[in-house]
Amino acid sequence: MEDRKFTLRQIPKVDEVLKMPGIEDLTGVYPRELVVEAVRKTLDEIRQIIIEGRVDNGGGGGWNGPEGIRGRVVSEVERMTRPNLRRVINATGVVLHTNLGRAVLSPAAIEAVYMAASGYSNLELDLDSGKRGSRYAPVEGVLSRLTGAQSSLVVNNNAAAVLLALGTLARGREVVVSRGQLVEIGGSFRIPEVMEQSGAVLREVGSTNKTYPDDYRRAINERTALLLHVHTSNYRIVGFTRETTVEELAALGREAGIPVMSDLGSGSLLNMDQFGLPPEPTVQQTVAAGADVVTFSGDKLLGGPQAGIIVGKKELLDRMKKNPLTRALRIDKLTVAALEATLREYLDVRGVVQNVPALRMISSGREQLRSRAEALSLLLEDAAGERAGISLEKDQSAVGGGAMPTADLPTWLVSVKPAGMAVEELAGRLRQGNPAVIGRIRDDRLLLDVRTLLKDEDMILAGALAAALGRE
Ligand SMILES: *Cc1c(COP(=O)(O)O)cnc(C)c1O
Repeated sequence: MEDRKFTLRQIPKVDEVLKMPGIEDLTGVYPRELVVEAVRKTLDEIRQIIIEGRVDNGGGGGWNGPEGIRGRVVSEVERMTRPNLRRVINATGVVLHTNLGRAVLSPAAIEAVYMAASGYSNLELDLDSGKRGSRYAPVEGVLSRLTGAQSSLVVNNNAAAVLLALGTLARGREVVVSRGQLVEIGGSFRIPEVMEQSGAVLREVGSTNKTYPDDYRRAINERTALLLHVHTSNYRIVGFTRETTVEELAALGREAGIPVMSDLGSGSLLNMDQFGLPPEPTVQQTVAAGADVVTFSGDKLLGGPQAGIIVGKKELLDRMKKNPLTRALRIDKLTVAALEATLREYLDVRGVVQNVPALRMISSGREQLRSRAEALSLLLEDAAGERAGISLEKDQSAVGGGAMPTADLPTWLVSVKPAGMAVEELAGRLRQGNPAVIGRIRDDRLLLDVRTLLKDEDMILAGALAAALGRE
C-alpha cells in the first residue's frame, strides 16, 4: 500500500499543531481550552486512522499532513461551537413528539414569548393598583372561563402539578387509586413513585381491569385525604373492564367529605371526536363532572408550552399556592406569555384549530395530506435525481406525548429509497444537517410523514435531501 506513507511517529505534538498558521488564529477567537481540545481530538482520530490502516493520503478517511490536520481541527472547532439545540424538521408524523419538544407554538404564542423575552413586562405587577401582582394572574381568568373552574395554578409540568397537589392535599395521609390506573408515563413518571415523593400513602383498590365505586367506598377511612382518578393516557385496557368514572367518584367524595382529583394527562379543551379521534373527557367536562382538582399538561393536546395546569376549587388551590414547593416549581415569564396566548386562541372557537399547530396537524384529513405529499414528492424527485427513488405510501400518524395510543390518524408518506447508500446512512446524514431531518425507517426506505411538516419546510427538506445524497 503506497498510500500508507504516514506513521504514528509523524503525528505532530499538540503544541506544534497549536502554533500552525490557521490554527494559532483560532485561539484568538475561541477559548484556548476549546482549541486545545479540538486539536487533541483530531490527533487521536488520526492516530486511530493510522492504527487501523485507513491511511489514504488525503482522500475521504485519511489525513494528508499539515493541511489535513488544519482542516480537521477547524471542522472540529466548528462542530464544538455550533449550538447543540437545533431546529429539527419533524417528518415522523408523531405530532406531540416528546423527544422533539412536543407542541409547536402558535404564531400568537411565539409573538408573546418574543415580547416577554425582549423587554420588561408586568409579570408580577398589577398595573391597575401599582402594587405587587401574581404571575399567575394573566392565565387565571382565561383558565376559569375556558374550564368553568373557580381557581387555577400553573407549575413547571404536569408531573410537578400532580406532585404539588398530592403533597399539599394528602401528605402523610391516604390517596385511593384504582389498580388499573397506576400508570407509568414516559420519562419515569410513575403514579406510585410520585405518590411516595409527595409523602402521600398509596391505597390501591380494585383490580387491573375492574374497579367499582364500592372498592373505593370500602377503602375510605379516617386517614383518607383524596380520591384520585388517573387518565391512562398511553395505554388502553380493553375487553372485560369497568372503571369508576370521575362522576361516580365525585358522588362518593361528596358523601364522605373527601376531595376528588383527576390527573387528565393530556387535558384537551376541545372534543377530539370531531376529528374522528377516540372521545376523551375534556377539562371542562371533568370539572363539570365534579372533580375538585384537575391537572393536565400545557404541551400535550392543549398545544402550548411545557407547563402543568391545575384547576379546581378555590379553597384547595389556595392551599397549594401557600405550599413552599409552589415557589420551587413556578413557571418563568416565557411560559406565562406562551400559555396565556395559547389559552386565548381557544376563545376564538372557529380559529383555534387552524391557529394552534398541534390541533391543525391532528385534524388534517388524509385527502389534504395527499396533496401535500404529492407536492413534496415532486420537490424530492428533483432533489434526489437518480440517487433515490421517491414514491407515496399510505400509513398512520400518531398523536404522541403519551396520548391516544389507539387513535387512527390516516396519512400519506413520501418514501425515499436511496440507490447508492444504506438507508441508515441517509437517515444519519439528515440527522446531522441543520436543520436536522427526522423521519421513520422501514426496511430500505426512509419515510417522511407530511402531517407534522410546517408550512415552509418542504423546500428546506428538499435541500437537505439533496445535500445528504451528495447532490448540490
Ligand atoms: C403526560 C402525563 C403526565 C406528565 O405530564 P408532563 O407534562 O409530561 O410532566 C402525568 N400524568 C398523565 C396521566 C400524563 O398523561
